[in-house]
Amino acid sequence: MSNSQIIDRFGRPHTYLRISLTDRCNLRCFYCMPEDGIDLMEKPSIMTLEEIISITKTFKELGVNTVRLTGGEPLIRKNFEYLIRSLADLGVTLKLTTNAILLDRYLDLFEEVGLKRINISLDTLDKARSVFITKRDYYDQIMTNIQEAVSRGFSIKLNVVLIKGVNDAEINDFIALTKNQKLDIKFIEFMPFKGNKWDWSKGVSQEEILKTVRSKFGKVEPIDNPKHSTSVNFKVAHHQGTFGIVSTITNPFCADCNRIRLTADGKMKNCLFANSETDLLTPFRSGEELKPLILQTIQQKKYSRDGMDLKMDADQYENNRSMTSIGG
Ligand code: SAM
Ligand code: SF4
Ligand code: SF4
Repeated sequence: MSNSQIIDRFGRPHTYLRISLTDRCNLRCFYCMPEDGIDLMEKPSIMTLEEIISITKTFKELGVNTVRLTGGEPLIRKNFEYLIRSLADLGVTLKLTTNAILLDRYLDLFEEVGLKRINISLDTLDKARSVFITKRDYYDQIMTNIQEAVSRGFSIKLNVVLIKGVNDAEINDFIALTKNQKLDIKFIEFMPFKGNKWDWSKGVSQEEILKTVRSKFGKVEPIDNPKHSTSVNFKVAHHQGTFGIVSTITNPFCADCNRIRLTADGKMKNCLFANSETDLLTPFRSGEELKPLILQTIQQKKYSRDGMDLKMDADQYENNRSMTSIGG
């Protein structure tokens, strides 16, 4: 039973805060970062580490028990170690989403503070394709760091955004990785954000993914979906690892949503697709009490995808932020 006070109009308690530490990134994944880049946030408008810690404490007092650090690339944030230690001291469960380029620097720290669950973006197992997708050449470093994290017993999920004609032929190569390793693969349907040239004809649906996996591995077994999961999860018989599909476009799992987002410039977003945001940082800086503002904001949350229907409304998502400045 959750003791969260952050309850929306649909009775959903919100216990999970995803904080974007920066809108900067050391990769340029084409589906995330617009070709011409983004207007980067001015430094003074970005939450300081002390502000992040203090605002997180307020969310914790309202019942948030899990915090995921994301970005942009969270590991490029200066004094990241200090932040992690301070957040761990608040007693929340910490999770991380990263591209893994700098992961090796922090594994000892993560072991020390008990940060065990790490989601890592890895869209391809092919070096040349990785350079094409990310526009940078860090593939070897990323793979070395993933192997190290797996061998040290971290719980690793690989996030794979599938795009037709780019990496959809690799679906079963990713599944093969789960045969002898306790790895989770999370296939993600391509989602629309500002400037990412979204076109669902380039997307790969849950149905297509399952058909491809079954064509090679035969029967796949559904496994229990953890509460609040936004993916539907499966296992190939006798494989050690599992796979899941985040079918936000074709079959969104919003009914049990418990997520709140906080952007690096301190705006609270009720949903990944929400255009409306509530500035928490300005009132925080002028000494206002944030709790009433947070509780009011959650009342504006819509049931699913901020009200977008299956066609996904370009007027709406082009007025959202780019994914790199939301924090996926
Ligand atoms: N830089 C870190 C990383 O890549 O893991 C954290 C931030 S990134 C924005 C978080 C997640 O969002 C990544 O797994 C990425 O694949 C996913 N993502 C970005 N753009 C997306 C899109 N258009 N559709 C679906 N997922 C997307
Ligand atoms: Fe950077 Fe992550 Fe976006 Fe790739 S998906 S550009 S690594 S923020
Ligand atoms: Fe929650 Fe919005 Fe994601 Fe649905 S689309 S799970 S409502 S954040």
